[in-house]
Amino acid sequence: MPTLAEVEREACSCIRCPLAGGRTNVVFGVGDPHADLMLVGEGPGRDEDLAGVPFVGRSGKLLDKLLLQEMGLDRRSCYIANVVKCRPPGNRDPRPAEMAACRGYLDAQLDLIQPRVVVTLGNVATRAVMGTNDTIGHLRGRTYPFRHGSRGHGCLVPTYHPAAVLRGGGEAMAQMRADLVRAKEELVRPGNVAGEATGGVAGEATGGAAGEAAGPPAVAGQVHR
Ligand code: SF4
Repeated sequence: MPTLAEVEREACSCIRCPLAGGRTNVVFGVGDPHADLMLVGEGPGRDEDLAGVPFVGRSGKLLDKLLLQEMGLDRRSCYIANVVKCRPPGNRDPRPAEMAACRGYLDAQLDLIQPRVVVTLGNVATRAVMGTNDTIGHLRGRTYPFRHGSRGHGCLVPTYHPAAVLRGGGEAMAQMRADLVRAKEELVRPGNVAGEATGGVAGEATGGAAGEAAGPPAVAGQVHR
C-alpha cells in the first residue's frame, strides 16, 4: 500500500484531466494523516491554487473559526482535502468527468487516513462522497453511516460549504454550526459503528464515485477498494 506522501507525489504531476492545464499548484490536502476528522470540499479556488493549500481564503478563515468554536479543533488536528485537486477555471463546479478522473486520490486519502468522521462541505462534495444527487439542503442535519477502507465503520456529516455560509448569512451559519456540533458528538461517541449512526436516509455512504468512472490513478488505485 502506498503512503499518503507517495499518493501526493503522483497527484502533483497528474495530467489525468483538463484541470491540470490551468493550475498553479496541485492542492492535494493538508493536516494530520492520522486524523479522526476529515473535511472534504469540492475543489481549490484562486487563493488555494496559488498557495497549494485547501481552504486558505475567506472560506477557509470561516472554516477555521467554526472548527475552533464548535469543535475545539484547529486544522492541524484534522485533515482537509477536496474532491478535485486542481482549480476549475473561474471557480466553476468540477465536472463529473473531472471528479471521476480525480476520484482515486480522494479514495486513497480516505483509505490511508481512515477518519472516524467525514464532514462534506457543500453540494458537490456531499454528492460525490455519498453518491447521491440529493441537495445539501435536504441531506444536512443528519448523520450517515460511512464505510471506507478497512476501518469498516464511521460516519458522515454533510454541511454547507463555508462560501455558501458567507453568502447565506445567519441561518446558514447557525445550521453549519449545528452540523459541526453533530460531528463533534460523533467524534467522541465510542465505536461509531455504521449501523448506529443516526438518521441516515440515503443508506450507507460507501464512498462510491459520482459521475463517470475513469479508473483510479495508478498509485492511488493500489488502495482503491
Ligand atoms: S485528475 Fe485531479 S490531480 Fe489530476 S489533473 Fe485532474 S484535478 Fe488535477
